[in-house]
Amino acid sequence: MPLQDDTKQQLNDALKARKALEDTYEAQFKILALFVSRLSLACKGVDVDLDNRLAKLRTELNRGTDLEKLLPFIEGTSENLKQLEAKHQLDVQKVQRGLTEAGKLLQKQKGLPDQLRRDLRELLGKVETPSATVHAFLPHLNDLTRLYQHALEAKQQLSSDCADDDRYSHICRQISVELTNLLSELAFAEDSAAEMDKIRHSLLEKLPIDALLEACLKTINIIISSINRERQSAEHFLLKLNDALSSVQQTVVSSLSTSSALKERMQVLNQQIEQQIVHLGAASERATSLEQLKMLVSDKLSAITSSLREKDQLEQQERHNLQLTLGDMEQRLHELESEALTFKKRISDQSFRSLQDALTEIPNRAAFDERYQLEIKRWQRYKKPLCVVLADVDHFKSINDNYGHSAGDKTLKVIAKTLKLNLRETDFIARYGGEEFIILFPETSLVELEVPLNALREKIRKIPFKFKNVSVPITISFGATQFVTKDTSRSAFDRADEALYEAKRSGRDNVILKPAGE
Ligand code: GH3
Ligand code: MG
Ligand code: MG
Repeated sequence: MPLQDDTKQQLNDALKARKALEDTYEAQFKILALFVSRLSLACKGVDVDLDNRLAKLRTELNRGTDLEKLLPFIEGTSENLKQLEAKHQLDVQKVQRGLTEAGKLLQKQKGLPDQLRRDLRELLGKVETPSATVHAFLPHLNDLTRLYQHALEAKQQLSSDCADDDRYSHICRQISVELTNLLSELAFAEDSAAEMDKIRHSLLEKLPIDALLEACLKTINIIISSINRERQSAEHFLLKLNDALSSVQQTVVSSLSTSSALKERMQVLNQQIEQQIVHLGAASERATSLEQLKMLVSDKLSAITSSLREKDQLEQQERHNLQLTLGDMEQRLHELESEALTFKKRISDQSFRSLQDALTEIPNRAAFDERYQLEIKRWQRYKKPLCVVLADVDHFKSINDNYGHSAGDKTLKVIAKTLKLNLRETDFIARYGGEEFIILFPETSLVELEVPLNALREKIRKIPFKFKNVSVPITISFGATQFVTKDTSRSAFDRADEALYEAKRSGRDNVILKPAGE
């Protein structure tokens, strides 16, 4: 049965082929089932709906369900995934925004270390580039958390640092010293003297920053109102000047016009007189009798006499007018002169006073700064030695504390006067601020200062100060240095300040001479 055999063979082949197909199909099915189960594990927790769908798909696959029956599941899952993708995009944007905002907020914090700022800037740059997934932001989030932590640590350290406290109180002190100096230069604002005194005294206390700012504000107000007053006074003067000039001009014009009117009348009179004389001549030639001539002459003469009298009167009036005008002008001139003098004095008082300390009446810090520059230039040109000396009253605060500020003020006056009186004409002393004085000694070397400075120190100690009937000796410390070639105004000053500090540390009532390079 070759045909049968043949058919059998064909059937066998077909069966084999189908078996192979089924095997492949089953193997693929298994792979799919494995894939779905892995996928569902990987996606677990991303979305509840997706979780459920994948779990069902997994079960069906394990059960070996027909692929056709699985199709709706697969479609549903893919719809699920589409929605998930949109939600994902929103999440990405949200995280990006959140990170950027948190980073910028951190950037606004004061007192962050430089490195932290650099890291933060770099991080913000990275966050800016859009990323496909939220996951891509996770490292950034991590970085930002770290930066926040650093920033908080830095801030904590800053606020617990007592060095910072020192800096703060140093700044407050500096503001208060500057303000006191400024106030002492505002002597021209006489009308506000009481208010300035109040501010000045309040500055003697240790003030918190807001009180200092208020004092600054008040001072600015005083300056503005006194500038306004000065402007008004200048305007007043100019107005007066203008008034005076226009009134002089008017007087001159009117006196000119009266005198020209007078002149005209005078001319008429002259002509009348001339005519009368001519008439007289003609009439007398025509006269036939002596009697007639006599009458004629006497007529004409009385006419001429009255004309002459009138002329005389006119002349007198003119002289009188002229005198009046002159007097008026003289008066105006005097007024102007005295006005100008007051004005000039006011201006020069001001420029003088703004270089003088109001309390001690010795030059102030502004005057010192000016003189300092000048002496430094001289020293550079003539190469004669120049010394700068700082002096600071010892334990001055306790005088204020124990006997009041006005006792302190008086003490400062006496000390300033004593120092000034015991210096040479060519030395220059100024109140540098508070209870500190600064002295320039031109053409004097450091060694030459030892004796006179100690003499000054003794003089101050021997002043018989008495408060509330108690004798209170007051002492002062000096720090001195001499200029050297490489010095600047600042470096020499700082050296004198160091010397003063040493004098204080050594127990006060002392003179320390500090040459450069020690
Ligand atoms: P030290 O020996 O270390 O210099 O001590 P001190 O007390 O003199 O120094 P401190 O700088 O602590 O105090 C200076 C005081 O001087 C503070 C302030 O009350 C006072 N003071 C500054 N200017 C004036 C002023 O114009 N009038 C008065 N009455 N006191 C002033
Ligand atoms: Mg001091
Ligand atoms: Mg002092």
